[in-house]
Amino acid sequence: MRLEVDSVSKEFAGLRALTDVSLQVDDGEILGVIGPNGSGKTTLINVISGVIPATAGEVRLDGTALTKLRSHQVARAGVARTFQNIRLFEDLTVLENIEAAASRSPRSRGWLRPRQASRDAIELLGLGPVADSIVDTLAYGIQRRVEIARAVATRPQVLLLDEPAAGLNEVESDEMLAVIGSVRSQYDLGILLIDHDLRLIMRVSERIHVLNEGRTLASGTPDEIRRDPGVIEAYLGLEEEHKHLKEEVSPHSSESEARNNPSVDAS
Ligand code: ADP
Ligand code: MG
Repeated sequence: MRLEVDSVSKEFAGLRALTDVSLQVDDGEILGVIGPNGSGKTTLINVISGVIPATAGEVRLDGTALTKLRSHQVARAGVARTFQNIRLFEDLTVLENIEAAASRSPRSRGWLRPRQASRDAIELLGLGPVADSIVDTLAYGIQRRVEIARAVATRPQVLLLDEPAAGLNEVESDEMLAVIGSVRSQYDLGILLIDHDLRLIMRVSERIHVLNEGRTLASGTPDEIRRDPGVIEAYLGLEEEHKHLKEEVSPHSSESEARNNPSVDAS
């Protein structure tokens, strides 16, 4: 399975939210997509999942165009997504929420009954102890996991996650990353993972795609991205590499150099 986004652009009444963006997600791979607020990350997921039409370009799953399909048809084709803001049935239990998603999916109906698909998702996401709890009573970090379980229970081939760690503290974010890693290895599906924290996304992604103002700023392995001058400029600010670079250019003008070296001060 391969998801391809081919030269996709999206305009909203003159505003160019995406310009000529191309990327691929393969089976068993996590592609991280990162960019500042307003860089087009959610728009990218909205276009892929058929929530909004692209202005130009094409989205394909295994060579078949998804671009003209409605969102329920894209879901049926095997692309599941979560939302940046949690969307759950707050008065239902965790299990009921997940089963509702699973039973709507022809994919889970075909070879695995929705109940079993839901049980699998609950186990994988560590939701067993809260399976019968009403969603509304649960901590935010748990609710985010329920969202992912709902998507996973539809047995997708590709999973699109829109900032699953948003609003989580550091410990919860780490847990979320571990969960996303186990979803990938258990189901061998492709994951497009959006976040705005570069360090976080580097830890789980094989490849990273950087958006800036709707355009591709860089794409490559975490190591390549970490060294990319455009990314350093836009994201990492005065990261070590950058500082180092500056000091090489002008060794005695740096403040930190002066602080750390009294002989420079005295001169
Ligand atoms: P991100 O998820 O990276 O923060 P978005 O994709 O949400 O960015 O937004 C990209 C740009 O597109 C922003 O300028 C946003 O205001 C605009 N935008 C997003 N969705 C819509 C919409 N439905 N109608 C008009 N403008 C939109
Ligand atoms: Mg967004």
